[in-house]
Order: sequence, then C-alpha cells, then structure tokens
Amino acid sequence: MAEVEKRQDRSPVPSAFEYASAPESRDIVRLEERYGLFVGGEWMAPSSGEHAPSVAPRDEEPLAEVAYAGPEDVDLAVGTARDAFADGWSDLPSSERAKYLFRIARVLQERSREFAVLESLDGGKPIRESRDVDLPLAAAHFFYYAGWADKLEYAFPNRRPRPIGVAGQIIPWNFPLLMLSWKIAPALAAGNTVVLKPAESTPLTALLFCDVLRQAELPAGVVNIVTGDGRAGAELVKHPGVDKIAFTGSTEVGKEIMRLVAGTGKKLTLELGGKAANVIFDDAPLDQAVEGIINGIYFNQGHVCCAGSRLFVQESVYEEVLAKLKRRMGTLRVGDPLDKNTDVGAINSREQLERIKELVASGEEEGAEIYQPPCRLPEKGWWFPPTVFTNVAQSYRIAQEEIFGPVLSVLTFRTPDEAVEKANNTPYGLSAGVWTEKGSRILSMAQRLRAGVIWANTYNRFDPTSPFGGYQESGFGREGGLHGLGPYLEFDE
Ligand code: NDP
Repeated sequence: MAEVEKRQDRSPVPSAFEYASAPESRDIVRLEERYGLFVGGEWMAPSSGEHAPSVAPRDEEPLAEVAYAGPEDVDLAVGTARDAFADGWSDLPSSERAKYLFRIARVLQERSREFAVLESLDGGKPIRESRDVDLPLAAAHFFYYAGWADKLEYAFPNRRPRPIGVAGQIIPWNFPLLMLSWKIAPALAAGNTVVLKPAESTPLTALLFCDVLRQAELPAGVVNIVTGDGRAGAELVKHPGVDKIAFTGSTEVGKEIMRLVAGTGKKLTLELGGKAANVIFDDAPLDQAVEGIINGIYFNQGHVCCAGSRLFVQESVYEEVLAKLKRRMGTLRVGDPLDKNTDVGAINSREQLERIKELVASGEEEGAEIYQPPCRLPEKGWWFPPTVFTNVAQSYRIAQEEIFGPVLSVLTFRTPDEAVEKANNTPYGLSAGVWTEKGSRILSMAQRLRAGVIWANTYNRFDPTSPFGGYQESGFGREGGLHGLGPYLEFDE
C-alpha cells in the first residue's frame, strides 16, 4: 500500500507510489526443448553429443538444452561458410545483399517483443532495457549496414573494397543479440560469410535468430551459429579457414586470442574490458548528471564493458552529488527482469555473482566505505544490490579492476588536470563521460582522456552510425559506422 499523507483540509494524497507488478507475458516465446548447431541452414546434432541447459538467471529455471560444438563441428561450420562464400554470396550484386539485410532488420522489428522477452529470460536484464535498447539497436544495425552494402565503392573511394572471406565471431553474454548484430551486419554488408559463437550462458536469442535468417531467406551457409563454451571459441580462432576474427569479451581471453592469431595473417578486432571514468565538474547540471551516473553504472546490472564504474566528482560538489546519488539509488527497483517496472535485473550467472562478491569484499577489506540502499532481493536466482563505494583510493582493486556488476567506486578531484590524470590511470581505454556546462571544457577533456568513446553530458548512448572501440587493454578496431566496415574488407593500398 502506498503511504498516504494527510494535509489539513485537503483530501489524502499519496506521498510515495508503490508499483504494482507489471510482468510481461512470456507466452510469446516458444522454445524447443533442445537445440542443435545451425550449419548450412539446417540444425544438426553436435558430434560430441554433448548438450547443457541454458538457465534463467532470475530463478535458475532451465530454459532449453543447448549443443556443445566440438572441433569437427567448428570445422564443418567453417567449411560450409567457405563454400557459401565461393558459391555465390561474395559475387551477388551488392544491392541484392542489401535486400537480405533489410529483410533481417524488418523481421527483427516485427518480432521484437518475442526477442526482448527471450533476451530478458535468458540473460536477466530488465525487459525495459531489452525492449527499448537492445532490440531497437539490433534492428538499427542491420538497417544501417544494409544501406552501405551497395555503396562500398563510395565509402572507400579508389580503394576497390573486396570481402575477405569467412569471419569467425565470438560474442559475450551481456548484450547477446545486440553483439550478434554488431558483428553479423557489417560482415554481411561487406560480402563475407560468418561463423558465430554465442556465449555459453546466453545462446538462446542467437538460436532464435536462425529462424529470422530462414524467414529472410538468406542463402544457406552464409551465417552459421555454433554454440558451446570457450573451447569452441578457441577452435574457431585457430581454424585455418577463417580469415578474420572479431571478438568481444574479457581482456584475458582477448590476449590469448591475439597470441593465437599472431603470424597467421588473419585480421583481428578485439573489443575488451573497461574501467571508465565518469567525470562530474562543479558547473554540471547535477540532477541530470546523477541520472547519467545511474545509467552509467546500473544499466544492465553494470554488465557493460563501457560502464561508468569510476566516478570522479569535483570536491566542491562532492557532498551534494553523493546525497542526490544515494537518494536516487533508493528509488531503483531490483527484481524480476520480466517486470516492466524493474530497473535492475538479475546477475547473469552464478560465476559472475561470485566474481562481483569477491571484488566487493576486497573493497571493504582495503578500507572503502560501502553503501547499498535498502532493497529486498528475490530468494531464488542471482542478485546483487546497487552498490556505491566511497573513500576509494586509486590503488584499490575496485578502482582498478573491471567488476562487471552494479558497483560504483567514487573518487574526487580538484582541478581538470587532476581529473585527467586520475581518469587516465588505468590500463583500459574504452569510454569516459564528462559533465560540465562549458563546451570548451568538454572539448579539452575529450582530447586529453585516453578513451575510444567519450560522452558529454550523457552516458551509455549507442548509435549504429557511431564507431565504438578502445585503446590499450580495451582492445583495438572499431565497430559501428563506416569504421566498422573496414575490418571486413580488403583494399588496393
Ligand atoms: P570471456 O572473455 O571468457 O567470454 C567471452 C566469449 O569468449 C564467450 O563466448 C566465451 O565462451 C568465449 N571464450 C572463452 N574462452 C575463449 C577462448 N580461449 N578462445 C575463444 N573464445 C573464448 O568472458 P567471461 O564470460 O568469462 O567473463 C569474464 C569477465 O570478462 C567478466 O567478469 C567481465 O569483466 C569481462 N567481460 C567483458 C565483456 C566486454 O564486453 N568487454 C563481455 C563479457 C565479459 P563461453 O561464454 O562459452 O565461455
């Protein structure tokens, strides 16, 4: 029941609203009990015979059995992609190729509710995010790259752009369908064929996507999806029939892939971890900045490579920002990902929850002060409350390591120089945020912050036209925009 405030002669008015639950129905999703590997436009059983369930993070319900690809399966998928490349796809008039991409985009839009519900079920993210962010952006990527497919000569004038062959693509569990779109759309627009490996804990939207490929009548073998664990990813990286590897995931695995690819002549793009600085100057519109802080770190439970996980606040407004932030954190609703009112959903896996807990414990041990707003977490499933640490020293692990959870570390600064120095004190370099009224300060900060993406007076905004990628241990290569096509093409230099 909402609390009711009595105001003298006036009728009672509610002073706080409690939200009634508003669950999205899951009936729209029809899952098979068991999925095989999608190769050459057909489902096939894995040669290992191995399957394992994909589990819903909100209540640990097994959703469907998913195949584990072995080396023979990866070999077959790569061979099939090679044949499809040679047997017509690479020679298809580019306007014909574009038609398939447009079709895929439209089918994704038509089936967006179904995909959004499945994404939230399988990955634990709030339906509000999968419905309003993941799905519209996934469709937008296919629309955007469909537009480039027949204009490559104009995009890269006098360089004779040509497809490179078979792209091996490995994606993580934080934005399963969106990462699939970031990878597949530019690869196809450039005329390549694909073997994609989804993450072990979130394979279901990629498997449902196979149905979209059939609906769009994409020629068999142009896109092949092999599920499995890291071993399948490693097989794909090592396979001599693959011409380009595109990887998004941890820096550790990224380094391993780089070692394997070195000297093979394969093209490589790596989109790895981050520890982004979100810098708030004292002239910033503070209420707006607090919304940006919240969106920067609690969006998708903080499972975001570009999450604003290190907050730098100018000392003169520190108390005010912190008070506003804590008040706002108290209004975040943590719970069922399928509830349309939920702001923070479930943690993607038990392993990730353990990793978050371990890093949070290290923060407390090292001397930081922890704050978590009162909130009741569901009993089943994997959950972690929105958390903020103050009194953080730059040397603490929570200020250095990627936590990949809803955990924010707050530090302070006095001058722009100090902000830049502290913000750049990280081995990563993926993204950053700057909050200030001054345009000139935005420009000077953007030049001095070592990060691939810098948001000004906003955070976590994505657009298919805008390149995304990092420096240093955050990887190299860009996805999105014209820049995202380059790694899938060969040129006359
Ligand atoms: P990984 O880097 O292990 O996983 C990313 C993808 O790579 C998955 O599809 C994974 O398969 C696959 N993979 C794993 N090992 C190999 C390998 N040797 N060769 C090729 N592919 C491989 O990330 P985790 O899921 O283990 O997450 C660990 C940490 O990484 C997180 O806590 C977070 O800090 C960071 N991370 C960063 C992401 C980003 O977007 N930058 C995304 C995800 C995680 P499988 O899932 O089956 O193991």
